[in-house]
Amino acid sequence: MPEGKIIKALSGFYYVLDGEDLIQCRGRGVFRKRNITPLVGDYVEYEAENDKEGYILSIGDRKNELVRPPISNIDQAVLVFSALEPTFSTMLLDRFLVLIESKNVEPVICVTKMDLVEDSKGLQAFMEDYRTIGYTVVETSSEKMEGLVALEDYLAGKTSVFAGQSGVGKSSLLNAIRPELELKTDEISSSLGRGKHTTRHVELIPLSGGLVADTPGFSSLDFDGIEVEDLSDCFPEMAERSAACKFRGCIHLNEPKCAVKQAVEKDEIPSYRYDHYLQFIEEIKERKPRY
Ligand code: GDP
Ligand code: ZN
Repeated sequence: MPEGKIIKALSGFYYVLDGEDLIQCRGRGVFRKRNITPLVGDYVEYEAENDKEGYILSIGDRKNELVRPPISNIDQAVLVFSALEPTFSTMLLDRFLVLIESKNVEPVICVTKMDLVEDSKGLQAFMEDYRTIGYTVVETSSEKMEGLVALEDYLAGKTSVFAGQSGVGKSSLLNAIRPELELKTDEISSSLGRGKHTTRHVELIPLSGGLVADTPGFSSLDFDGIEVEDLSDCFPEMAERSAACKFRGCIHLNEPKCAVKQAVEKDEIPSYRYDHYLQFIEEIKERKPRY
């Protein structure tokens, strides 16, 4: 049975990419019965009617799923932050990282607009912290066309979404990588701003040997669906130490012999990361309905 990946859904058709071929497929009654709707990003088995058309027979299990934009099986999020304009913020970075980790998506941190920085010492120290935690950090400038090859290497063979505040330089990066995408990335900008309507469909664009969503993800920055006891799993440097905490289920607040707090005291975990953890815990607690 031929297999492929849905890269676009439009007017009841699903466009399945199988190698170099794009097959226009219909769904089958089987989905309605099982109450499952194919999503862009799904791996499917299909039956070919000819070399351009077919119908979908089954949908593979999803490793993850986003609601906005509706897309499945994301391998990685390219988290774009600008060095300046707007100023780099570890608070916002940690917020995005938690959301991305909670969805089981691999983050790649891309710090762009590096050309605007005159003295990068402070910024380099932050980037080093994140590299020590184990994150990939790529430095780029779309203006000077720097760091793009390194970024492209991470796109190859993966399904990626770009994420990051408006104005950080996401569209510029995509344009710098592939100038012929100009039109598509204009859509990225407009989908972030006003004029965003429900009729917009997400599409995966083949780029640098991988697939990239034409709509940014993780634009809603609240912690819906994340529980207090799960939060430290979204901080890799805490998650890896929590087995050494005295209490099982330690949430690293006031518990004695907490390996995480000890690591913060010894500066093995940056104190700002722990502060953000505490702040996010408060936010999650406030979200809970009061009885
Ligand atoms: P988006 O909203 O994240 O898609 O951001 P844009 O790509 O639209 O960029 C926002 C602004 O930052 C635009 O005015 C860009 O020209 C500018 N910009 C983007 N990347 C760079 C860069 O690497 N260096 C400089 N100096 N400006 C940039
Ligand atoms: Zn602990």
